[in-house]
Order: sequence, then C-alpha cells, then structure tokens
Amino acid sequence: MTTPVKAVRGTRDLLPPETALWSRIEATAREVFARYNFGEIRTPIFEETTLFARGVGEETDIVSKEMYTWEDRARAQSEKTQSLTLRPENTAGVVRAYIEHKLSETGQLQKLFYIGPQFRRERPQKGRYRQFFQIGAEVIGPPHAGSESPLRDAEVLEMLASLLEELGIEGWTLRLNSVGSASDRPAYLAKLREAIAPVAHRMCADCQRRAETNPLRVLDCKVAEDQEIIESLPRIADSLDEASRAHFAAVCAALEAARVPYTLDHRLVRGLDYYTRTTFEFTHGGLGAQNALLGGGRYDGLSEAIGGPKAPGIGFAIGQDRLVLTLQAQEQEEAERADAWVAPVGEAQNPASLALARELRRAGLRVELGDGGFRVRKSMEVADRQARRIILLGEDELASGVLTVKDFSTAVQTKIPRAELAAHLLAARAEAKQKKEKQRA
Ligand code: AMP
Repeated sequence: MTTPVKAVRGTRDLLPPETALWSRIEATAREVFARYNFGEIRTPIFEETTLFARGVGEETDIVSKEMYTWEDRARAQSEKTQSLTLRPENTAGVVRAYIEHKLSETGQLQKLFYIGPQFRRERPQKGRYRQFFQIGAEVIGPPHAGSESPLRDAEVLEMLASLLEELGIEGWTLRLNSVGSASDRPAYLAKLREAIAPVAHRMCADCQRRAETNPLRVLDCKVAEDQEIIESLPRIADSLDEASRAHFAAVCAALEAARVPYTLDHRLVRGLDYYTRTTFEFTHGGLGAQNALLGGGRYDGLSEAIGGPKAPGIGFAIGQDRLVLTLQAQEQEEAERADAWVAPVGEAQNPASLALARELRRAGLRVELGDGGFRVRKSMEVADRQARRIILLGEDELASGVLTVKDFSTAVQTKIPRAELAAHLLAARAEAKQKKEKQRA
C-alpha cells in the first residue's frame, strides 16, 4: 500500500467548525478597519528575494534562516532566472506596491489592510507555524500628509485595542517602546557594542553573534543566564534625541487621553530591522511561550531602503492563528465556569451554605462551595477564577433572607431574596447563552 501524503510540517488544514471562527475574526477586523477608513490591499504571495533582504534586513533571523527561497528557472529566452521568496511578512510587499503604483503622488496618507498567509521556516510549536496567517495594516504617506505624526501611532494602537475588545479578547497587555530614529540609533548602537564587548564571552552563542551583526537584538534574548547582563546594558530611552523623545511622549499622552492602557518595555526591539521610533506588541498570558498576539511599529526609512520616496509609516501584524487559540481557550474557560460560588463569611455559616448550594444545584445550576475558614478576600480571588458570580452568606443575609450576588464580569452587586435566587441565576445563564449565540451569528 502506498503511504498517504500528509500536510507538510508546520502547515495545517483548517476545518469546520473552526473555520467559522476564522471567518468571524476576519469579518470583525474588516468592520473595524472600515470605521478607521482603511481599504484592503492584496499583494502577491511571492516576491523577489531582494525585497525582503533590503526591507526586512539581511541580518534578521527571518531573512538569514527562515525564508522559503528558490531560484525560479527561466521559461523563455526573454525571461531571466530569478531568486523568489514566499512572503515571510506583508509590510515589505505593501510598501513595494505603494512605490510601484506611485501612491505617494496622491499626496495623501494611504491606509491599507491585508489578511493572508505568511511563510517562515521556524521550529513549529503551539502558536508557531510555517504557514501562518496575519491580519495587518499600514498607514504610510509623504511627511506633508502627516505620516510622521505621533497621533498616527496612537490612533493605530487605539484601533487595535478596540479590535481586540470587539473580538472579545480579554486580558491583553500592550507593551510599548521607542527604538529611536535613524539619526539617534547609531550613537546608541555604539554605546551598546561597547557595553557588550567585555561581557560577550559570558553570553549565549546567539548573543555573541548578534553583538557583532545586530546588537539591538541582544536585548531580545530569552536565555535565563543572560538576563542579568542584559538588564545592566544601557537603555535606548536614555539615548533618544530630543525629537524622538518628544514623539514618544506624544504617543503616550494620546494613549492616556484615549484610555488605552500600556506598559513600557525598554527591551522591546522586535525582529525586523525596519522599525524606527515606536515599537509595540500586544501579548496575552494564555498563549504560553509564543505570547505575542500581534506586533508592529513605525518604519520611517523603509520606503527609501527599497528604492522609493521618503514615506514614513506605521503598521502592525496580528497573528490570526494566535487570536483563534486565545478565543478558543477563553470559550473553554468560560464553559467550565460555575454559575455561582457560595461563600460562607465565617465557619458558623458553613452548614447553611451547604443547604443553599444544595438548593441551587437541585435547580440545575453549577455551583461551587467555599469555606468559612477562608477570608472574604481569598474567597473573592478564588471564586473569580472559577465562577461567574459569588454569593456571600453571613449572619445578616441568613437573618434577612436577602442575599447579595456579585457578578464578576460587571462587578455589579445585586440584592436578591433567597426564594428568587435560583430563578434569577437560571435566567442569567439563558441570557448569556443567547448573547453568545447572537455574537457567533
Ligand atoms: P512579526 O511579523 O514577526 O512582527 O509578527 C507579528 C505577529 O505575527 C506575531 O505577534 C505573531 O502573532 C504572528 N506570528 C509571527 N510568526 C508566526 C508564526 N511562525 N506562527 C504563527 N504566528 C506568527
């Protein structure tokens, strides 16, 4: 019998019902992008290798070891043999198209989004594939159209926060940094090289290589033994010139005004060489080792690096595979949550709490029972992870027969007579189910 052919390592088939979730994510992204006035661009899946070598950077991991590159044979005398590459990312392709179609001549900002597969020969693991999908967007244009404004950075970040919220992704963190501009980076790189030189021999092989080729990437090293050294290296924030510092401060101020929470991460340098000034990542704890949901930044010199006019820009790419993983994990967690956690306030209320839990369970509810030995705060913390709401049972509640129910998703507390409690919780469950189904449709 012949051996069946399987999908190539690092690639996957997406089947129903999971594909419905992929479509829902794409539809939501399109809807949100449209509100911010973005239009769709579709660039070819393969490009000339030079585009990525010049755009992404020869020294990056992507270009130096992860690309699917081949020599494309000539089919006719008029054709030449060409080195072609399956796109490992889409920003370089978008900027190439921007230049090729002379979009700069419109004099306006171009706001373009894309959705599609990308290819990198990485070591496959959960959340990391060799064919993966990105949903990304770019804002690019001549400086006189405002493409360098920090408000563009903040707007893109605010859009991402809104998109994640609309997708129902909870618990993300926005990490933000500035890697400086073409004018202030060389001074920092010199300082960094100087600081690494005497300690490089104590660092991992990758850091030793990067110290020579791409010292910024040393900051990105995850090897535990190297962390102490890395923490002691000079910080890029201390080497930014006045203009870069003002730019970054303006991005932060606009985010604060729009109430988009962020944390500063002075080691966030990202794996692509084209970034200048603002760099960012949205991470999610539920993803494990591959915790970046999306990444991006400003690339003020990319267009010129690939032969175009001066066209500063900012963009991002969301890992769609990782969005799907996060939403699936959230749904699973949500499905496993109890309807209520009954928390006796003291040990004296333990027996009465068992009676209440029994009442609710007999009505068909999923109930967890705490212990009066816990402090109220501890009950709250534990219950928050396992149940949708908590019912505190103290002396007063037992005497009055009116119970306080705290809903963890809204933090709202409601007083409910004990006789109505089961019906109230069942109605809340039905309502939540209906809402979920509506969302899916
Ligand atoms: P990058 O293009 O490297 O800036 O990555 C942007 C986002 O794409 C990351 O934050 C990930 O969510 C996703 N991503 C990058 N590489 C992979 C991969 N090999 N497999 C799955 N997702 C990826």
